[in-house]
Amino acid sequence: MTATRRLGAAAGDARHEEAASGPGRRTEGEAQCESCGLVHAVPVERVVLGPDAPEELGRFVDAKRWRRVLVVEDANTAEVLGDVVCADLAAAGHVVAVQRFSERSGLLADEDAVGSVRDAVASGRPDVLLAVGSGVLTDVTRYASFLARRPFVSVPTAPSMDGYASSVAAMQFDGVKVTLPSQAPLGVFADLSVVARAPKEMILSGFGDLAGKASARFDWELSARVAGEPFCEAIAERIASPLERCVEGAGSMLAGGADGIASLTRGLVESGMAMSMMGSSRPASGCEHHASHFLDLLAFRGLRPHAPHGLQVGYATRVALGIQRRSIEMLGEPLVQPAGSGGGDEERTWFGEHLLALGPVRDEKQVWFAEHADGWPPGAEQVLAARERLSGVCSRFSPVDRALSGAGVPDGPGYLDVDRAMLRATFRYANRLRSRFTVLDLLECQGRLDEVLDSLLA
Ligand SMILES: [Zn+2]
Ligand SMILES: [Zn+2]
Repeated sequence: MTATRRLGAAAGDARHEEAASGPGRRTEGEAQCESCGLVHAVPVERVVLGPDAPEELGRFVDAKRWRRVLVVEDANTAEVLGDVVCADLAAAGHVVAVQRFSERSGLLADEDAVGSVRDAVASGRPDVLLAVGSGVLTDVTRYASFLARRPFVSVPTAPSMDGYASSVAAMQFDGVKVTLPSQAPLGVFADLSVVARAPKEMILSGFGDLAGKASARFDWELSARVAGEPFCEAIAERIASPLERCVEGAGSMLAGGADGIASLTRGLVESGMAMSMMGSSRPASGCEHHASHFLDLLAFRGLRPHAPHGLQVGYATRVALGIQRRSIEMLGEPLVQPAGSGGGDEERTWFGEHLLALGPVRDEKQVWFAEHADGWPPGAEQVLAARERLSGVCSRFSPVDRALSGAGVPDGPGYLDVDRAMLRATFRYANRLRSRFTVLDLLECQGRLDEVLDSLLA
């Protein structure tokens, strides 16, 4: 196994060696992927996005012979959908228990929330859990059901993030965002008329999360091209095509138009499917997500207010795309220092007491450097091919950048309570939070990250 493979699959982003649905595990009916040669599991059995979602959900629960159902919701999602789902299931003869969080905002995907759902599982002994809600409720239900070895079904109420069909859980333990191996839902049932009524900020948030797939794609291809990480074109396209359709109709989507909301929701669900198929969040998460995790950490430390995940990702995507464009001309430059080696006092100031927890990631990045530095740069032909390919990725996704800009998302400081120093630190140090290789690691190893950030954020 190469260092890059370890980086791609390392703790935090994707411990997919431990995950039940990782690539390479062939079960009945699965075939080797023609595009990449891996075997991709597709654990989500049924996806329904449309007006018949509630009826189809009822049929799915019946067909599975699940008698006891635990519905996980909060005060908001109970009103918009949860009460109806519970009443329908009860009328159909199911025993329905409810775990309703009282929070209308600010619920965290942390130990306490997972503990509450696990307690409800212990007392109700459900055959299945239904997550009626958006990001946090889905991740809490996913992780609690995984720990309790029960299946779960996702019933989205907003097009606000891409985790509905995913197999990894985005949790927040002790202020640090971690992505844990978990399980995909067996079904996703989204009534688009409900989803379209979500607050505007949640729609923009979903668009931001989807837009982040552009910079995530660059980082994945960069790592594949220059460092040999496994890459699947078919899975990458599964995300890119809906993203492009969504960007074409961005105006209608942001105004809550039915077609736009449908393509946004489809894109977000497809992105989750892609993560499930790859057994990791690699297809959907690059340095823009690491930047968002860094901003979450600053919020946890009280240095700025919390903001929705997708808004942070959309913002970070604009900066990330600028950095990536700039990096292409430097692709063939030598590696001069390990990633994670600089920083000193400034780094300590931003991470505070969390600095100690960054050790394992730093170690992995130093191993990567040790294994790659001597053979760097890759041959001239490989650099040329990578440069051509990555330039193509940049120009293909420039409409994403324009659409974000059109939605009011800037590419510099002054958004979501992030000032210039904070934005610079975000992209200077976000690579400490995950082992995954991104453009930030390459530039840091080349000793060029500081000057790129200074010129972009001047
Ligand atoms: Zn493949
Ligand atoms: Zn995301």
